[in-house]
Amino acid sequence: MSDHSAYEEFRSNVRRLAEQKVLPHAAAYDRDMRFPEESLAAFKGLDLVALAFRENVGGQEGDVLAQSIVLEELGRVCATSSLTLMVIWAGLVPIDKYGSEPLREEVIRPAVEGDVVASICLTEPAGGSDLFGLKTRAERRGDEWVLNGQKRWITNATRSDWYTVLVRTGEKSLSLFAVHKDDPGLSFGRREEKMGIKGSPTADVVFEDCCIPGHRLIGEEGKGYAYISESLTWTRVLIAAQALGIAQGALDQALKYTGERHQFGEPISRFQMIRGKIADMATQIEAGRSILYRAASAIDAGEADARSLASMAKLFCSDTAMATTIDALQLHGGSGYVSDFPIERMMRDAKITQIYEGVNEIQRLIIAKQVYAKAEQAA
Ligand SMILES: Cc1cc2nc3c(=O)[nH]c(=O)nc-3n(C[C@H](O)[C@H](O)[C@H](O)COP(=O)(O)OP(=O)(O)OC[C@H]3O[C@@H](n4cnc5c(N)ncnc54)[C@H](O)[C@@H]3O)c2cc1C
Repeated sequence: MSDHSAYEEFRSNVRRLAEQKVLPHAAAYDRDMRFPEESLAAFKGLDLVALAFRENVGGQEGDVLAQSIVLEELGRVCATSSLTLMVIWAGLVPIDKYGSEPLREEVIRPAVEGDVVASICLTEPAGGSDLFGLKTRAERRGDEWVLNGQKRWITNATRSDWYTVLVRTGEKSLSLFAVHKDDPGLSFGRREEKMGIKGSPTADVVFEDCCIPGHRLIGEEGKGYAYISESLTWTRVLIAAQALGIAQGALDQALKYTGERHQFGEPISRFQMIRGKIADMATQIEAGRSILYRAASAIDAGEADARSLASMAKLFCSDTAMATTIDALQLHGGSGYVSDFPIERMMRDAKITQIYEGVNEIQRLIIAKQVYAKAEQAA
C-alpha cells in the first residue's frame, strides 16, 4: 500500500468485517472455550490469511503495517481471533520465506485459500525465555528426519494442520522443520485452562520418534535460530498490534459506559476524575499507536533499529493494554466485574500480551543492549 488513505480504507474494511462477523461470537468463544471457526471463515472475505504470503505462491504480500492494522482491528473486538490469525502467519511465513520451492508449493499454496491452520513451536517445559537452551532434537535417518521432544504452551495446537518446530540438530545448532498433523509420532498434551484468550487452544505438542520426509527441513540446516530471531522481530510487532487493539477496545467500552451510566443525577462522563482517566487512556493509546507504526515501518524499510523498535512497541503496547483494561473496568463499577460486559474478558485477555512472544523483561534486555551499543558507537 502506498499512501495514508489506502491504509485507512483498508482499516475501515477490516473494522467492518470485525464488527459484523467476529464480534458477535467473541463472548461465546471465551465462555465455551471454542476455537474461533466463524472468524476463520470470515477472514476469507478479505483474504486476510493470504495477506502475509508472497505473491508468487498466491499471497497478497501485504506489508507489516497492513498486517498490524488487521490484528489491531481484530484485537479491538476479539483477542482470540486476532491471536489465531497471528499464529497462522507466525507458523507459515517462515516456510514461505525460507522453505524450498516444493515445500512452499505443498504448504503455502493451499494455505492462501484461508482454511489451513498453523502453529509455531518454540517454547519447551524447561523454558521459553532461554530459547537456545531447547532440548527437542532431530536426527537424520536416511532420507528422513526423526524428531524427539516436547513443546509447551503451543497456540492452535490440536487444531493446526502444520507445526513449524525449532529443534536441536547439533550441540550448537538449531534447525526449523515443518511437521504435518498426520505425521507418525506426533501427539498432544491436555488443553490448558487459561485466564484469557480462552477460545484459542493451548497445549503441549509431543514428538516421539516423529518421522518426517527430508524436504521438510525449512531452509538450511543450522540456520533455525537465525530465522526465528528475525521472525520474532516481526511477530513482536504483531503482538503489539493485538495489544493496542485490546486497549482501544477497552477505551471504546469505557466511553460507551460512562456516557450511559448516571450517578448523582448526571452521566458519570461529566465527572472530572473520570475524564482524567479517559484522557490518560487515550494519550497512552495514541503514543502506543505511534511506536507500533514506527516499528512496523522500520521492518518494512529494513532499518537496522527494527529489532529494538519492535521490542519497544511490544513492551509499550502490552503494558498499555493491561493498564487501560484495568482502568476501563474500574470505570464500569460493579458491572465491570461480570461477564455481561466485554471489559472483564478484555482485561483477562490483555495479560498474556505482556508474557508471550518474549516476556517484557526480555524486551527490556533487547532494548537496553541496542541503546548501549548506540551510545558506544557515538562515543
Ligand atoms: C497462552 C500462551 C500461549 C503461548 N503460545 C506459544 C506458542 O504458540 N508458541 C511458543 O513457542 N510459545 C508460546 N507460549 C510461550 C511463551 O512465549 C512463554 O511462556 C514465554 O516466552 C515465557 O517463557 P516461560 O513461560 O518459560 O517463562 P520463563 O522464561 O521461565 O520466565 C519466568 C520469569 O522469569 C523472568 N525472566 C526470565 N529470564 C529473565 C532474564 N534474563 N532477566 C530477567 N527476567 C527473566 C520472566 O520475565 C518471567 O517473569 C505461550 C504461552 C502462553 C501462556
